[in-house]
Amino acid sequence: MIVVMKTASTTEHVNYIVNLLNQMGLSGWVIDGNPQKMIEVLGVNGQADRALLEDAPMVDRVLEEAKPILAASRLPGEKTLEILLGSAASIRARKLGIIAGPCSIESEGQLLEIASAVKEAGAVALRGGAFKPRTSPYSFQGHGERGLELLARAGEETGLAVVTEVMRCDHVDLVARYADVLQVGSRSMHNTHLLAAVGRQSKPILLKRGWCATLEEFLLAAEYVMLEGNRNVILCERGIRTHETYVRNTLALAIVPEIKRVSRLPIIVDPSHGTGQSHLVTPMSNAAIACGADGLLVEVHHSPPQAWTDGQQSLDLEQFRSFMKGLKAFAAAADREL
Ligand code: PEP
Ligand code: MN
Repeated sequence: MIVVMKTASTTEHVNYIVNLLNQMGLSGWVIDGNPQKMIEVLGVNGQADRALLEDAPMVDRVLEEAKPILAASRLPGEKTLEILLGSAASIRARKLGIIAGPCSIESEGQLLEIASAVKEAGAVALRGGAFKPRTSPYSFQGHGERGLELLARAGEETGLAVVTEVMRCDHVDLVARYADVLQVGSRSMHNTHLLAAVGRQSKPILLKRGWCATLEEFLLAAEYVMLEGNRNVILCERGIRTHETYVRNTLALAIVPEIKRVSRLPIIVDPSHGTGQSHLVTPMSNAAIACGADGLLVEVHHSPPQAWTDGQQSLDLEQFRSFMKGLKAFAAAADREL
């Protein structure tokens, strides 16, 4: 349900509606539409009293919506949400957000060397896994809290926002203490308990598409987060599993313009997991920007052959520098900036 306000309505009128919804056990998502403000009715624990909303001061009309996607869907004319990644970085309108760093946090020296190089090249945030989702239980699982400490320190020293994955509900508070952005990985996209748990805290969420998820399932996962009150969700396309074998995953870039059409959430692209091959990272990043992505998530390592995880898909520092330079022309052609 959407409450459309009259053009002359003020913030007080909008707040009145939001309070009314709260009394009904619901919440309201306010859209500062031009010329009319709108309030989208959200929540599953209450019942909207349509007549009461229609009779409230300065309400123009109430629209009935029967869509499965509510919080994440885009209303006509609405802009993509701008999301702050900590105090110094953001994913917003014309500015592309480039998040870069190693697959796993290995050591302080490794992380600092990579962090300062990606910062200098123009990244806005540093990625690095402390809790790693691994296919084999015999593979390196990450340094855990020690990794989080190193990540937070690298963020402080470089001024970069830091992004890292959370895999368990009982780790949400711990990860949120160190990270600026909480990543929910591809394997966890279907974990509705984890989605709700990250939705109950306020740090932004980087939600990766499950490798077998449809667009609708991807957006419904975002709904789980947003319904708990955290609207700061960044979607990330990271490839899906197909019959193809020359790539690790098939990067399904058509989802980018489609998400732009149907959703208010920003979407970034991960060409590293999306291809599994470092030589494909640059062309697929250029393509991602060309089709409207709001940013990129790129794995970078100072010595990819020695990387503990995902060396094959990681750019080295020199490659990352020229990658960023080359991206400028594509950004400009897409009317975006780095
Ligand atoms: C990652 O980005 O560290 C990662 C594990 O990616 P995904 O969840 O997309 O596999
Ligand atoms: Mn990786």
